[in-house]
Amino acid sequence: MTSIVLVRGDITQQHVDALVNAANSSLLGGGGVDGAIHRAGGPEILEACRALRASHYGKGLRTGQAVATTAGRLPARWVIHTVGPRFTHEEDRSELLASCYRESLRVADELGARTVAFPAISTGIYGWPIDDGARIAVETVRATPTAVEEVRFVLFDERAYEAFAAQVR
Ligand code: ADP
Repeated sequence: MTSIVLVRGDITQQHVDALVNAANSSLLGGGGVDGAIHRAGGPEILEACRALRASHYGKGLRTGQAVATTAGRLPARWVIHTVGPRFTHEEDRSELLASCYRESLRVADELGARTVAFPAISTGIYGWPIDDGARIAVETVRATPTAVEEVRFVLFDERAYEAFAAQVR
């Protein structure tokens, strides 16, 4: 059984085996969670991302996929980078958002991670409504078979925390 834990805070402060980055497809850094992870984790993470771009991920990481690197100076062993979809009213991209959680857990299993911290993927710069983003996150984690023992959702503000709390109640 995977337990779901909610905390309000900064994902870069979490002592976990792996933390998930809401990256963009370039893998070369960005704003929000991505910027915070690279700032706190130091240059080793960017170096590892550049190496991925120079090898298997020449065109970058596709939306809904996930890949791991070192966590540099962060209090975690690995960062799992995943690319969330941008929200749009024109098209339902929910399956891609679900895929981010599923693929991140698959990578976590490959690494042997037992504790994994997730941000609310796509709900910042990518504009996904927080209530729906929380529903997809919680439903997908509950439906995904994994050896991960604790999934910790790290919510940056009260609004996001409440949205996740409504899903786990
Ligand atoms: P995306 O581009 O996938 O929308 P963002 O990083 O812009 O990713 O935002 C994703 C979510 O993470 C938002 O809800 C945002 O408020 C939150 N967030 C931003 N910084 C942090 C942080 N340091 N720790 C945890 N959550 C964060």
